[in-house]
Amino acid sequence: MTDLTRLTAAETAAAVASREVSAVEVAQAHLDRIAAVDDRVHAFLHVDAEGALAQAARVDAGELTGPLAGVPLALKDVLCTEGVPTTAGSRILEGWRPPYDATVTARLRAAGVVVLGKTNMDEFAMGSSTEHSAYGPTHNPWDLDRIPGGSGGGSAAAVAAYEAPLAIGTDTGGSIRQPSAVTGTVGVKPTYGGVSRYGLIAFSSSLDQAGPVARTVLDAALLHEAIGGHDPRDSTSIAAPVPPVVEAARQADVRGLRVGVVRELTGDGYEPGVQARFDEAVQALVELGATVTAVSCPHFVHALPAYYLIAPSEASSNLARFDAVRYGLRVGDDGERGLEEVMALTRAQGFGPEVKRRIVLGTYALSSGYYDAYYGQAQKVRTLITRDFTAAFAEADVLVSPTTPGVAFPLGAKLSDPLAMYRQDLATIPSNLYGGPAMSVPAGLSDGLPVGLQVMAPVQRDDLLYRVGAALEAARPFAPTPLQWETA
Ligand code: GLN
Repeated sequence: MTDLTRLTAAETAAAVASREVSAVEVAQAHLDRIAAVDDRVHAFLHVDAEGALAQAARVDAGELTGPLAGVPLALKDVLCTEGVPTTAGSRILEGWRPPYDATVTARLRAAGVVVLGKTNMDEFAMGSSTEHSAYGPTHNPWDLDRIPGGSGGGSAAAVAAYEAPLAIGTDTGGSIRQPSAVTGTVGVKPTYGGVSRYGLIAFSSSLDQAGPVARTVLDAALLHEAIGGHDPRDSTSIAAPVPPVVEAARQADVRGLRVGVVRELTGDGYEPGVQARFDEAVQALVELGATVTAVSCPHFVHALPAYYLIAPSEASSNLARFDAVRYGLRVGDDGERGLEEVMALTRAQGFGPEVKRRIVLGTYALSSGYYDAYYGQAQKVRTLITRDFTAAFAEADVLVSPTTPGVAFPLGAKLSDPLAMYRQDLATIPSNLYGGPAMSVPAGLSDGLPVGLQVMAPVQRDDLLYRVGAALEAARPFAPTPLQWETA
């Protein structure tokens, strides 16, 4: 019998729908796979075997149908799951079981998707390596001594290690795309407002967006369609249907498409192997009938500093809710200490160093007397970046760049240098500040490690990402994860 963990999501759904296999068998195969490899990969913080098998049984009973019914999925631990632990990678939420499902979770369940468990992440999604998780790092399935990217390293690693064909990530500055790039998977940050943030534990509310991770472009599109669309519970949700992403992935056609190479996001600062794969991918698009031009987005060089004012500012406000009263951890509540002291002790113990750094940065940037100089200035830069996008999209239908400056780096290599860690997101942050959709799609290997190509599109043109990604995938099929450590 074929190994059920090697099927794509589309193949799995078809096999379940035709009753070639049962959803329970598929779920069990993935639970077995997790049991066999996750002690080494550590993609999961919590495996919900019971919940997964119960959901699969409902699919087999015909209660739940649809294009992804019976397909297993790994869910980033920042999305609320009713009754199932949700930590956001933090000690402060240890033991917390949300009383409700996030909209993304609810839509997955209604679509018959089988949630296998919750994946590891940098604490509150702050990081680029998953090393800031309070529960230990995730290992890159391509090389266990290397980072899987972050903050959604667990989601990307689960997909690359065949622990799940699909995963959900969240992307505030690159946390879906960067992990996808360094694990050889497809990752998409949808248009801001395209996927509901209801029940997504907030990091930076004006930037956060949940999206798909998969091993094929079509699978990502199927997942995108399942979770996307208007939600009245999120005031920033767009009141329009999901762009036709599945149709675009099937179309896989870039003939006549104008592709703009962003000058500021290539060359200096990018590893030669990354640049080379990028150049080849662009050449492949030309051969497929796209026209390529160079475009300039002069303010993109200010995206990183603007992001590190806006995101921490919003985080300092969002994280104020973890007050030792409402959720999870409570330290020093001995009946003698006052509320403020209990709060301070809880936050001191419950938050890790990177989260504290962000809270301090954000509180400072928002403080009276500095607000205009920092937060206000960053908002102006955000406007200029949006204008750069608008101008570039007059010349090109989509923009492209390498997703990351380099391939997966060794675990520990950048832990003592926050700025080096922040620089991982040089190319991904502009789309978050603008609000447009962006995809990372595998573009080959450098020194045996995956390289990602980033495609960026105008707001609500998520379909264009899938046309480009699918065309590239058809012309230059992705390398499967070698998993040498399994046989070593
Ligand atoms: N690495 C970036 C940060 O640490 C982006 C994180 C994200 O997208 N959640 O803020």
